[in-house]
Amino acid sequence: MPELPEVEVTRRRIGKLLVGRKIACVVTTKPSYFFLTSPKKLQQELAGRTIHKLDRHGKYLLARLDSGATLLLHLGMTGQLFGEGARSIRLLRAPDRRSKTTEKPRGFAPDEHTHLQLEFKDGGPRVFFRDVRKFGKVLLVAEGQSDARLEKLGIDALEADGSHLFEAARARKIPIKSLLLDQAVIAGIGNIYADEALFLAGVSPRRVARRVALAECVAIVAAAQKVMRRSIQTGGSSISDYVNPDGSDGGYQHERRVYGREDEPCPTCGTPIRRFVIAQRSSHYCPSCPNVARSSWGAATPQPQSQNLPCRLQAKPGQTPCLHGASGHALSGLSSRTLEISQEDGRTGGSARRAFWTNDCERRLRSLTKASYDSNKKKTRGHSCPPILPVNLEGPRPERSGR
Ligand SMILES: [Zn+2]
Repeated sequence: MPELPEVEVTRRRIGKLLVGRKIACVVTTKPSYFFLTSPKKLQQELAGRTIHKLDRHGKYLLARLDSGATLLLHLGMTGQLFGEGARSIRLLRAPDRRSKTTEKPRGFAPDEHTHLQLEFKDGGPRVFFRDVRKFGKVLLVAEGQSDARLEKLGIDALEADGSHLFEAARARKIPIKSLLLDQAVIAGIGNIYADEALFLAGVSPRRVARRVALAECVAIVAAAQKVMRRSIQTGGSSISDYVNPDGSDGGYQHERRVYGREDEPCPTCGTPIRRFVIAQRSSHYCPSCPNVARSSWGAATPQPQSQNLPCRLQAKPGQTPCLHGASGHALSGLSSRTLEISQEDGRTGGSARRAFWTNDCERRLRSLTKASYDSNKKKTRGHSCPPILPVNLEGPRPERSGR
C-alpha cells in the first residue's frame, strides 16, 4: 500500500495542484532516510521552479520541472500526498484517530510527520507530503541523469501483457504471486491487486511461476488491469493510511473479493477464503475457484499429461461413480472442492492432495504423503482406468471416456 491505482488517483488529483505552479519555497523536516536528496538541496533546487508535468511509472510519481530535473516521489507504505484544506480522520495521529472517529475532522495542520511542504508563488493552497513510517521517498534527479530505482523498474502494469509475464516466469521457481510483486518484472502491482488478479484469473498464488501456462499469464495480467482500472475509477483502496489528495477515502476497499477477507465466503463459490504467507506477505485466495477455473480452460490450454495418471480409487458396489471416468470413484458431496494438479510434468506438486479428485477422493488422499502417493502410483501402473478428467462444476458433465 499504496499500489498503482492509489498512485494514479493521486497523480490525477494532486496534478491539478502541482502542474503549472511556481514553487516559492520548500519546508522539510530534518534529514532522515525519507530524503534521498538532502532537505537543503531540495530547498535550493526547487525554489523558483515550475512543475510542468506529473507522470507515473509503477508506484513512482515523477514531477517534471522546468529546469529539466525530475522530482521523484514514492508513497512507500503510509505516505500521504494531499493539498491544503484536505480533511480526513486518516490525517490524524493514531491515538487521535482512535479517539475522534465520530468527530468531523478539522482542516489539516502540518505535524512532525509532514516531511515535505511545497509553498507556491501564487499564494494558493500548499501541497503536503506526510508519512508516519517514513518508508516513502523523495529524490531529485538532475536533467540527463537517471536513477537505479527507475532503471530497474519493469513495464508499467497498465501497459504490460500476458506474454511479458510468461517470459519472465520461465525458469523461475518462485510462486506466481511473488513474481507479480516483483517490480522489476511488472511495476505497480502490490499485495492487494496481486491477490485480486490471481483470484479473478483463477490461478492459485502458490503455483510455481514457470509452470503457469501462457493462457493463464494472459488471464492474470488482464485481471490485474481490470481490477486496477476499476480501483482507479473508485478512487483507490483506503485500507489503512491512504487518502486521496482532497482527503476523501477511496472506494475499492468495499469491492475487494479476497484480499483481507479471510474466512469470509468466496463471492463465487462460497468456500471460506484462506490466508497464508508467501515470502512474508499475506496472501488470500479461494481454495476451490482456481481448480474450477482450470477445468474450464478447455481447449485454450493444452491438457496436462497428469490427467492421464492411472486411477487407483475404485467405487464400492452401489456407490455413484464420480465424474472422473467410467471406472467410477465414489462420489459424495461433490462441491467445488476439486483439487489442483501441477501442470507439465505430470506429477503432483508437493503432496498428493493436489490432483483433480472429488471430495471423496480427497478424503482418502489426505493422509498420503508424496512418497506414498508415488509408490502407490507405481503399484497401480497398468491399472486400466480411463484418463482422469478435470471437472467443470459449472458446466455440463464431461463425457466419459470408455476403456
Ligand atoms: Zn471460490
